[in-house]
Amino acid sequence: MKSKLDLNKIERPLVIAGPCSAETEEQVLNSARLLQKEGIQIFRAGIWKPRTRPNCFEGVGSEGLEWLKTVQKETGMQTATEVANVKHVFEALKYGVDILWIGARTSANPFAMQEIADALKGVDIPVLVKNPVNPDVELWIGALERLEKAGIKQLGAIHRGFSSYEHSIYRNIPQWQIPIELKRRMPNMPIICDPSHICGNRVLLQSVSQKAMDLNFDGLMIETHPTPDQAWSDAQQQITPTQLTELLSSLKLRVEHP
Ligand code: PEP
Ligand code: MN
Repeated sequence: MKSKLDLNKIERPLVIAGPCSAETEEQVLNSARLLQKEGIQIFRAGIWKPRTRPNCFEGVGSEGLEWLKTVQKETGMQTATEVANVKHVFEALKYGVDILWIGARTSANPFAMQEIADALKGVDIPVLVKNPVNPDVELWIGALERLEKAGIKQLGAIHRGFSSYEHSIYRNIPQWQIPIELKRRMPNMPIICDPSHICGNRVLLQSVSQKAMDLNFDGLMIETHPTPDQAWSDAQQQITPTQLTELLSSLKLRVEHP
């Protein structure tokens, strides 16, 4: 059995990969098996999906948590999912999800963040907080502080870019100065880049991932799917597990000089 994630002792880059959404049991298990073969140790899948407009696929819900349990048992991988409210937190904990993350729409809402932090009091689980959708570093720091105050010891930040009405090549503009400012203010906070939601397409993934490595980010969260074009959400930005390995091996890691 692999040792559990310790966000305070990360071997760079930490890689979290898996589909945007858990769709079916077969798709989840197939994704996890393929990623395990590529040496990935942390599996992500959205169980509850925050969609901008109604009538889109909104996630399979708690049923998918059973599939994540099977992933843990079958592959030894750790699992990660998004929680957006207290019900999600309790469900994810009940089913033994290893790592929780807070999405960009939730970290923008201090009431939701406080409720989640209260629900996590006394729970020893790594929690990753995506930047809020809007470019507000105080809100991002505030979300992390609420969890810190609730006693969460393993905390990390995820940079997924910021939404804008302006036209851009990115789905969410990186505005790298914001994660850099977060790191300046919280120097011990591990920071992971999510190039998938920054780019919104496959073409830019490599360059955004490399930029994150150049800036000394601690890891990457990248959406992968066995058949990306058929994904039920975020199809254009997902890559196959084999493409993920190609991308990761193309990255030049920053060498620290003493
Ligand atoms: C996701 O990770 O699939 C997701 C919904 O991300 P975000 O909260 O960054 O939009
Ligand atoms: Mn997604």
